[in-house]
Amino acid sequence: MTQLDSGSSVVAALLIAVVFGAFFFCEYLIYFPTILKCAWPKLSHARGGAEGTGGGPTEPAVRAMVLSDTHLLGAVGGHWFDKLRREWQMERAFQTALWLLKPEIVFILGDIFDEGKWSSQKHWEDDVRRFHRMFRHSTDTELVVLVGNHDIGFHYEMDWFKLQRFEKVFNASSTRIVTKKGVNFRPFVRSRCVKRTDVTTPACCFVPQHYPLYRVSDASCTGQDAAPPEERHLLFREKYDVLSKEASQRLLQWFKPRLVLSGHTHSGCEVLHDKRYPEVSVPSFSWRNRNNPSFILASVSPGGYSLSKCFLPEESTVIGVYCSAGACLLLLLLAHCLWMKGLLQLSLCLLGKHKSL
Ligand SMILES: [Zn+2]
Repeated sequence: MTQLDSGSSVVAALLIAVVFGAFFFCEYLIYFPTILKCAWPKLSHARGGAEGTGGGPTEPAVRAMVLSDTHLLGAVGGHWFDKLRREWQMERAFQTALWLLKPEIVFILGDIFDEGKWSSQKHWEDDVRRFHRMFRHSTDTELVVLVGNHDIGFHYEMDWFKLQRFEKVFNASSTRIVTKKGVNFRPFVRSRCVKRTDVTTPACCFVPQHYPLYRVSDASCTGQDAAPPEERHLLFREKYDVLSKEASQRLLQWFKPRLVLSGHTHSGCEVLHDKRYPEVSVPSFSWRNRNNPSFILASVSPGGYSLSKCFLPEESTVIGVYCSAGACLLLLLLAHCLWMKGLLQLSLCLLGKHKSL
């Protein structure tokens, strides 16, 4: 029976190795090779320089990371397993990106929470606590959080209380301007809060915001993270899917932004407004909203900027690895059972011969 025992031990060790190996790879290791493929774009091929300045390779650039629509699930509509999976995915992706890429500033373009628009104070505090744990960062990195419709509600359902509690936690004042190495970032929060006097210079700044500027649909969007073909031609509704035409024009005329970065649609897109104002829609950072989340890496100087996109591991890959590991386990168990059965038959056969002698 010693041979049986040692065989069982080997199989048990293999089973444990497969289970822990798959778990460690899918929940921790996979983020490293994926994010290691990403790099800060060089400014030598920069675009979008402000008038009168030239973006050169020697100009110091701000390393800005931009992500959107994290949608931390709430207490009412969120299933605990969904919450566990997707929040862990975002936490690992964010922490790995911080460690490998060391951004100086990170923008999260709103819809931080799924149920901020109706959550009770207790649930709100729980959501905020989880957010701070997931998106923890050192003092070398500045985190700028914008408000989205899921955080305080659409224009017709938001109120002063919800706005205040969001702004208090995230220091997300509607008139805030963030300046790094001479580059101005002007988070755009609500059209009705912007006064003409807030705008100081022509071609003033980079404008991160939650809602995209007005566009008819995503029909012209391309790339692997554009909206699915069946959704691309759906017409956008003003003030729901995109800003109104009026607010969009006002923003462009007042700010003359070098670049607008927006979220909300959960899909990627690049748009050029009035043939001179570029906008990049940043897809959702969560597996809950898409299989291939991503974030933007921006090297930005007063004279120019350059962008690249960094894709996170796909959820289907992780599911595939777990399914393969499960199949390996079954095969191992099957092989072990057959081997045990064979060994038993051999033993009985030998025992029978011994008795007959
Ligand atoms: Zn939104």
